[in-house]
Amino acid sequence: RSWWDHVTPALKDLINAVTDAFLADPCPYKINLGVGAYRDDEGKPVVLQWVREAEGKIGATNFLESTSTAISSKLVEESAKLIYREDLDVIKERRFAGIPALSGTGACRIFAEFQKRFYPDSTIYFPDPTWSNHRNIWGDAHVPGRTFHYYHPDSKGLNFVALMDDVKNAPDGSFFLLHPCAHNPTGVDPTDEQWREISSLFKVKNHFPFFDVAYQGFASGDVERDAQAIRIFLEDGHSIGCAQSFAKNLGLYGHRVGCLSILCNDKIQAVAIKSQLKQISNAMYSSPTIHGISLVSKILCNPDIKALWLKEVKVMATRIQRMRATLREALERLRSPLNWQHITNQAGMFCFSGLTRAEVDQLAKEFHIYMTHDGRISMASVTTKNVDYVARAIHEVTA
Ligand code: PLP
Repeated sequence: RSWWDHVTPALKDLINAVTDAFLADPCPYKINLGVGAYRDDEGKPVVLQWVREAEGKIGATNFLESTSTAISSKLVEESAKLIYREDLDVIKERRFAGIPALSGTGACRIFAEFQKRFYPDSTIYFPDPTWSNHRNIWGDAHVPGRTFHYYHPDSKGLNFVALMDDVKNAPDGSFFLLHPCAHNPTGVDPTDEQWREISSLFKVKNHFPFFDVAYQGFASGDVERDAQAIRIFLEDGHSIGCAQSFAKNLGLYGHRVGCLSILCNDKIQAVAIKSQLKQISNAMYSSPTIHGISLVSKILCNPDIKALWLKEVKVMATRIQRMRATLREALERLRSPLNWQHITNQAGMFCFSGLTRAEVDQLAKEFHIYMTHDGRISMASVTTKNVDYVARAIHEVTA
């Protein structure tokens, strides 16, 4: 008998299961629409030019020490300016607590732990559906998850009425996780007007909005525009928490750079909260890796590199928008009996296609096209070369 006889395999992660099935398929023209990472029009991963520029400006010897306070503070300050607004009083007066985090996942994980520590009996409301890892993250912190209505399968858009009902019916002072733009997995975002109504109702209910910002820039191509939901909440004077990931918009997946920030009433509260966040992260992994943090601080402080990056975000978002239009047109040209407007109505990396589980299975078996069982298509993996084949296959399984 060994120490670990009682350990059985964990449930397979949904996305990894798709990747495994894709890798096991010997077909030379197979397509993986399951990956949540940007690809160029050749289907290849991209090293953004800004990264090459910034790499040249930071010395490798800096990386022998663990993250310095100066570099961490720079990252936090610049990340906060990017999402909240450069000239915001809260930023200028340092009324926010922030720490670098291991990408978006790490930022969510630390917040979940912080929530548990200071609101031990609280729960968190997730949109239905949401990124599958949200439940694991808050679950591991022993914070029970609930859901609020979000997506409407008929319209393949927002179920705004039901969403507002759920916000209203949740106990006052509840925690809500919100995706400010490019919602994963649906690509469905509220309009500015709807965000205003959500924000007002949050105010009445005294709910806490925690924004998971994994795709700033990917919805519209403009990072400022994509922060609009948060800016609307700011105008209403909410206390806000934000998990920022730089994996996608800065193309730094492997570097695991992110930031967790919480807006506070005053500087004293900010110092207290920051020290608690640091204590939590210290116990988990001491300090985050320094290379990615140095790169991001470099770009956000250097106007030339930042301008280059902003152009690159626009290029990525525009290519995705073009592929949305092309896929929809191709399906319409095939005289598909279904309505495909939602492909272009939805925004960001993902399209929640409405394909059923059986249709998704058929796409894999007969056409060697892979995606998650919920019918989510990563639009970043659709290219000029494969879009017609993808459209024909979708048409075949749905006609
Ligand atoms: N939040 C959402 C909504 C996501 O889609 C993702 C990644 O897929 C993340 C957070 C975490 O991303 P990362 O930890 O790679 O920054």
